[in-house]
Amino acid sequence: MQAYPLTLVNHLKRARAFFPHKQIVSKLKAGVFRYTYRDFTGRVAQLADALRALGIAEGDRVGTLAWNSYRHLELYYAVPCMGAVLHTANLRLPRDQIAYIINHAEDKILFLDEDVLPLVEGLSLTSVRNFVVMLSDPNAAMPKSSLVPAHNYEDLLRNSSADFEFPELDEHMPAGICYTSGTTGEPKGVVYSHRGLSLHSLALCLPDTFALSERDTVMPIVSMFHVNAWGMPYAATMIGAKQVYAGPHPDCKTFAELIQKERVTLTSAVPSVWIAMLAELERAHYDISSLRTIASGGSAVPPSLIAAYERKFGVPIVHAWGMTEISPLATVSRLTTAMENWSEENKLRQRAKQGLLIPGLEMSVVDGQGREVPWDGRQSGELLIRGPWVADGYYKGQQFTDGWLHTGDVVTVDEHGFMQIVDRTKDLIKSGGEWISSVTLENTIMAHPKVLEAAVIAVAHERWQERPLACVVPKPEFRDMITKEEILEMLRSQFPEWWLPDEIVFIEEVPKTSVGKFDKKVLRERFKDIRLDE
Ligand code: ADP
Repeated sequence: MQAYPLTLVNHLKRARAFFPHKQIVSKLKAGVFRYTYRDFTGRVAQLADALRALGIAEGDRVGTLAWNSYRHLELYYAVPCMGAVLHTANLRLPRDQIAYIINHAEDKILFLDEDVLPLVEGLSLTSVRNFVVMLSDPNAAMPKSSLVPAHNYEDLLRNSSADFEFPELDEHMPAGICYTSGTTGEPKGVVYSHRGLSLHSLALCLPDTFALSERDTVMPIVSMFHVNAWGMPYAATMIGAKQVYAGPHPDCKTFAELIQKERVTLTSAVPSVWIAMLAELERAHYDISSLRTIASGGSAVPPSLIAAYERKFGVPIVHAWGMTEISPLATVSRLTTAMENWSEENKLRQRAKQGLLIPGLEMSVVDGQGREVPWDGRQSGELLIRGPWVADGYYKGQQFTDGWLHTGDVVTVDEHGFMQIVDRTKDLIKSGGEWISSVTLENTIMAHPKVLEAAVIAVAHERWQERPLACVVPKPEFRDMITKEEILEMLRSQFPEWWLPDEIVFIEEVPKTSVGKFDKKVLRERFKDIRLDE
C-alpha cells in the first residue's frame, strides 16, 4: 500500500472540493455570523500565508486564547497545515497557569479574542513576539493596549494571499499541543500529531462512536481550548458537516436557542453543563427535537440525568470517556444487540457506564502488582491504554516507557467488555483498608428529586484513615426543604452502612474546574478541618 500521509491538509482539500456550500455558524457579540466552507478554506490559506509572513516556521508553537468560533476553527487548520503547532491555551485557567503554559510551550505568537485582551496584558510572557487580536466587530478599530506589536486579525488576512500552497507534511509531525486542565495536579503538555488527529477524526465518525455524517449539524459546547473540543471540529470538517459555535461567554440560553434555530443534531459537553441545561429547558420552551445525540464525557454522567433527557425530550445522552492524553476519545457507551431485551433499568445502568473501547485502541486493567484483573464487573484495577492517538509522554516531561498510558483511573470491566470508572485514584476514599467510590455515591445522591448537584470527598479520619463527606446542592425550589436524613435513607437502601457519608453538608454550588468538572481539590481544602464523629 502507499505510504500516503494522514494529515489535516486532507480535511481541508476534501471540504473545499465537496462541500463548498456547507455552513459554519458562529454566535458573536454583534449577532450570528455565517459563512461557507468555501469562504472558510480561502481564509485558512490567507491565515497560513500571514503566519509565514510573521516568521512562523515549521514546528513553531502558535498560541490561542479564544472561545468557540469560526476564527478559532481557521486557526485549527491554518497553523498545523502550514507546518506549525497549534497550542490552544485554556483561558479559564488561573492567570499564573496561563502564563506558565504559554511560556512552557514557548509560543511565538498569540491569537486572542478581544475580550481576553485585559487578561493577556497582565501576563508575563517570555516567548511571544507578536499578538493578534480577533475583534468581535471585524470592522472596528483596534483598541489601545500594552501588547506590542498587536495586529488586527482581519487586517492580516486582508493583506495575505488565498493562493498559499500548503507544504508536504509528514504525518508524524506535531499538529497541536494541549495542556491537561490540572484537575489533580499541575498542567502537563500533550502533543498531537497529524496522524493521531486524522485517525481520531475517523474514529469519531464510526457508527458506534458518534457517527458524524455530512447530514449532521454539530455544535461542540466543549471549549475549543480543551482537547480540541474533543476533536469534533476536525471530524466535522473532514466529513463536511454544518458546524455551529456559541462564541464568547456562552450560556445555556444561547445553547438552547442555537439548537432550536440551527437545528443542531449533535452536541457535546461535560455533565455539569447538561445539569444546568436541563434547568434552562424546563424554565422556558425550546424546540430541541432536531437533536439526535447529546455526547457527555469528562466526568461520570448520573443515570438520573440520562433518564431525564430521555423522558422529557426523547434525546439520548451518549456517555463517553477520554483524556487529554488520548486526543481524547477512548470509550463510548452504546448498548449492543446482546442487551436489546434487557429491562429499562438495566439498560440505563449499562449506558451510565463509560462503555466499550473504540476500534484502534487497546486496553488493559491491572492490579497493584501489574496483573490483569478479570472482566467480571466487580474486581477493579488501573486502566492502561495504548493506540495511535494516545500520547507517549508529556511535552518536555515524563515519557511513558512501557508503551502504555497509565490513566490513573480505577475501573471495572464487565463480561460484555463495558468499562466503568470506579474513581480517579486520587478521589477514591480509602476507609479502613477498603475503597469507597465517590463517583457511585454522588451519582446516587444526584438521583434524589430534590438534589441538583452532589460531590463526595474524602476527609481525614483518625480511626479509618479517610471517611466520605457529601457536599450537596439542593434544587433552588427545595432549599431548606431537604434533610440529611432523607439522603442517608436513600443511600441506606443501596449501600452497606460503612459506605454512608459520615457527614452531609448543604452548599450553594459545587465549585467547577476550568473545563466544568467538579473541583474536589477546592472542596477538600474547604472541609479539611471538619470534625467527623468517631
Ligand atoms: P484533567 O485530568 O485535568 O481532568 P482531562 O480532561 O484530561 O483533564 O481528564 C481526564 C479524566 O477525566 C479521566 O482520567 C477521568 O478521570 C475523567 N473522565 C473523563 N471522562 C469521564 C467519564 N465519562 N466518566 C468519569 N470520568 C471521566
